[in-house]
Amino acid sequence: MSIEVLPNLYQIVVPTPFAVGPVNCYVALSDPVTLIDTGPRHPDSRAALHAGLSELGLTVRDVRRIIITHAHADHYGLTAELVRGCGAEVWTHHHNRVMLENYESIRVQRNDFYMQIMTESGVPADERQRVADSRRVGERFAESVPVTRTLDEGDRVELADRVWRVYHMPGHAGGLITFFDSESRVLLSNDHLLREISSNPIVEPDPDGGPRPHRLVQYIQHLQHAVDLKPSIAWTSHGGPVHDVEKLVRQRLHFHERRAEKILLMIGDEERSAFQIAEPLFGRLKGIDSFLALSETIGHLDWLEEQGRVEIIRRADVIYWRKKKTD
Ligand SMILES: [Zn+2]
Repeated sequence: MSIEVLPNLYQIVVPTPFAVGPVNCYVALSDPVTLIDTGPRHPDSRAALHAGLSELGLTVRDVRRIIITHAHADHYGLTAELVRGCGAEVWTHHHNRVMLENYESIRVQRNDFYMQIMTESGVPADERQRVADSRRVGERFAESVPVTRTLDEGDRVELADRVWRVYHMPGHAGGLITFFDSESRVLLSNDHLLREISSNPIVEPDPDGGPRPHRLVQYIQHLQHAVDLKPSIAWTSHGGPVHDVEKLVRQRLHFHERRAEKILLMIGDEERSAFQIAEPLFGRLKGIDSFLALSETIGHLDWLEEQGRVEIIRRADVIYWRKKKTD
């Protein structure tokens, strides 16, 4: 099924095997025919993408360029396969390059990073193992693909007879890029703004080997950035478009402020690990969902720490958080 966004620019809804549900890919019909995101490497996703292209009078062989908005498998998993079929160029933000080009080895590194995060967060060993096992299931949903060109903040890309400016909006992922056309004021926001669900800024290592970036803090900063563009509409990667970006951002900020206050209350006068906060906050979750809950909790703790409201104490392998004493 394809939906018109602007003349020569269409959305194709592609199912995924993930809890998030379908992913929206975009196709720009004018030369060079461009696909923005591909969906994961899964038979149902492949079938829907091919059907969407054919509805627009295209086949995979017509695609000349594939732009990847961020390095999550639901967005780029099919890219390598498509490139084998059509020889298209692959463009993405430079932070995504190493993940796209070295999918298998980066996944192994990420497993070590996530294990380390869970250990520091006080997650029991059996639960750490369950998360590692559930991540293994996801391995087949993408494969490595060479990147032809990297994009960065301020670059301009021609799509559907319009010139779109690239905005780097890290948060949900470090290499997430959005595209804005100042004439129509259409923002292709992908996972930075989602209408139905709050976008989870997932903890991840720094692509350049530095300290772990505070993804939720970056996400919150870039929410305001999206409002400042004054988009008339934001077309998203999951669910429907956002017609009132300012209102949605206000709701999201309010949600994060409330969540941070709740965490402060839960800490009270004690010292707590991220796991000791995440479990009562989200309930007992299993596998990858328990990791996502932990990741979101760490994001809020990072934010409270940057505000000077909590501080860290390390005891052996585990990090504990407590309210920062004010003089
Ligand atoms: Zn996504």
